[in-house]
Amino acid sequence: MPDINTCEFSQAFEKIFSANGLNTLICDKNTDKFYKLTVLLTEANVKTNLTAINDTAEIILKHYADSLLAYDYFTPSASVIDIGCGAGFPSLPLAIIRPDLWITALDSTGKKIDFVKDTAKKLGLGNITAVCARAEEFVNLEGKRESYDFATARAVSRLNILSELALPFVKPGGSFIALKAKDGERELDEAKSGINELGGNVISSKSLSLTDLSGEAYQRYLIRIEKNSPTPIKYPRAYAKITKKPL
Ligand code: SAM
Repeated sequence: MPDINTCEFSQAFEKIFSANGLNTLICDKNTDKFYKLTVLLTEANVKTNLTAINDTAEIILKHYADSLLAYDYFTPSASVIDIGCGAGFPSLPLAIIRPDLWITALDSTGKKIDFVKDTAKKLGLGNITAVCARAEEFVNLEGKRESYDFATARAVSRLNILSELALPFVKPGGSFIALKAKDGERELDEAKSGINELGGNVISSKSLSLTDLSGEAYQRYLIRIEKNSPTPIKYPRAYAKITKKPL
């Protein structure tokens, strides 16, 4: 069980979401869903190591608020693939507050995908499909390449590697939204030419802070890359090649 009760959870949830400009997402329905998600995550974490974060206030800040910093970047009813979703971040928080989105949560680790599947079912989230596969292999299945309005990812790899995993999934005209931490600008500089080679164009990089209740701020970047032409068919390469020689 979480280290705080429902009432303490609602207070912490409201304070942390307000401190991070997410006030419009605070309502009884969302608070209740996020409390249930916290119970499921905390319980599962005892048996299976899903996340290093166990403290409830930290879960609200670093998993929920952080996952939702770009929640309004996604157009209504869009299809979204979350590459390397782990225990469901950002996909589960997004599925809760954006029931209009069609989300595919993808990760290569079976126990994490089992958690996402089970949790989506228990929370009644009909808009999320969890898939256990490697991104660079899944994209080659029929109908997957250039078939999503958006790709997104948080904390998977540096942007030059991640772009090769994500951009092949995105339809021309769609976007890749990368949620990045303090190295975001540097990662963007080193990834720019590769992004262009993959058919992408950097539209914006927004710098902002994720702030905890003591006022400590963590640097974040929301990077939006538009797909303006098809990705050459030779990408993505095998993972060993992507990491050995990033574009
Ligand atoms: N996005 C989650 C989050 O922010 O909490 C998880 C981050 S975790 C550090 C990185 C995840 O990416 C791992 O669960 C790993 O299995 C997954 N991953 C790494 N490379 C992948 C690939 N090529 N295809 C699918 N999943 C991948």
